[in-house]
Amino acid sequence: MPFKPPQASQPSLPACPTPLVQLARLVAKRTHAMPRQGVPHESTGPASGASNLPREAAMQGVSFTGDRTLDFVAVDDPTPAPNGVVLEIKASGLCGSDLKFYRAPRGGGLAALGFKDSGAPIIAGHEPCGVIAAIGREVDPRRHRVGDRVMVHHYHGCDVCEHCRTGWTQMCVDGPVVYGVTGNGAHAPYMQVPASTLVSLPDELSFSTGAAISCGTGTAYGALVRMNLSARDTVAIFGQGPVGLSATQLAAAMGARVIAVDTSAARATRATAFGATHTIVAGGGDASEGDPVAAIQALTGGRGVSCSLDTSGAAAGRSAAVRCAAAWGTVCFVGEGGQVTIDVSPEILRKQLTIIGSWTFSTVGQADCARFIADRGLPVDDLFTDRWTLDQAAEAYRVFDGQDTGKAVFLM
Ligand SMILES: [Zn+2]
Ligand SMILES: [Zn+2]
Repeated sequence: MPFKPPQASQPSLPACPTPLVQLARLVAKRTHAMPRQGVPHESTGPASGASNLPREAAMQGVSFTGDRTLDFVAVDDPTPAPNGVVLEIKASGLCGSDLKFYRAPRGGGLAALGFKDSGAPIIAGHEPCGVIAAIGREVDPRRHRVGDRVMVHHYHGCDVCEHCRTGWTQMCVDGPVVYGVTGNGAHAPYMQVPASTLVSLPDELSFSTGAAISCGTGTAYGALVRMNLSARDTVAIFGQGPVGLSATQLAAAMGARVIAVDTSAARATRATAFGATHTIVAGGGDASEGDPVAAIQALTGGRGVSCSLDTSGAAAGRSAAVRCAAAWGTVCFVGEGGQVTIDVSPEILRKQLTIIGSWTFSTVGQADCARFIADRGLPVDDLFTDRWTLDQAAEAYRVFDGQDTGKAVFLM
């Protein structure tokens, strides 16, 4: 693994384009020393003291090189664009969708999603959270300042089309940049983004909670909002990985009665600690638990649930989510990829079902999710079972690839 540790000498400064950036360099602090051993801890807030943006040696990020390999690659000096910022990354989550790129042959993950492979290495990581270290001259100081704690809405679009103007840049008609996939992401000490991608991180929330909100937890929140979930609902949530477990935690906080379903007994059991009222092991050996739909009917007086959510992306999970819904119920799919077969008349029409797809969240939805979590003090950090430093990336992804732990994060 050709990772060169940072050196102890003073950094040489990249050219300083604006007075604002000079100010940023005086305010932002960076030790350049990556922690190397033990369990990493999250730093608590914005850096302070006199220091500067990084020298070249610190600017190495993790890039997937195909077939379950990764490498540390150098990235350009992080000088902000006029309308951009440089973030000092404090937490960068590992997401199940990263495994698509990690496992595929080089470039194969991009091709599978219809993106062109430029051949240039891309820094991975699409759950960025950190502190603004430098700011471009055209960024309105009423919106962002050096030292602000922020998350990144991990897409950038044209800023002009209707989707971009409503905060749904992932739907940009020109095709978005997806950070960590087609643009350099957060598995690096620093990351450059346009200021329009930033979403404030409430003071009450940790950086790792911010990283979770930047993808899986925000996706769960967006789906529950799309379903208009309320305390009157019983919701069945299929899949208790990081997105499903987040949905369980958020739905319980919204007052709903939550039935958590997973094929893994361990994951289903874990959902209880996140607020699930009932747990069901789908396909379990016990006849009463083998068919989740029958078990859900039994828990709802034979009516089924008013809301169901599939986070698994598996055909069986999607089918069960439809079949367990009560008349006039709402079903939401967030799991990516694959297909499902539905017997339309009995399973949808006769039940007057509403079936919706929900793809991540807008910038506004991301901020709403963060505020909801902060106001209720939800322990989102409990999602994380593995905390790593960036130089442990090879081991972190090897373990994450095994899929027998919970969510993982790099802390810087
Ligand atoms: Zn993700
Ligand atoms: Zn656009």
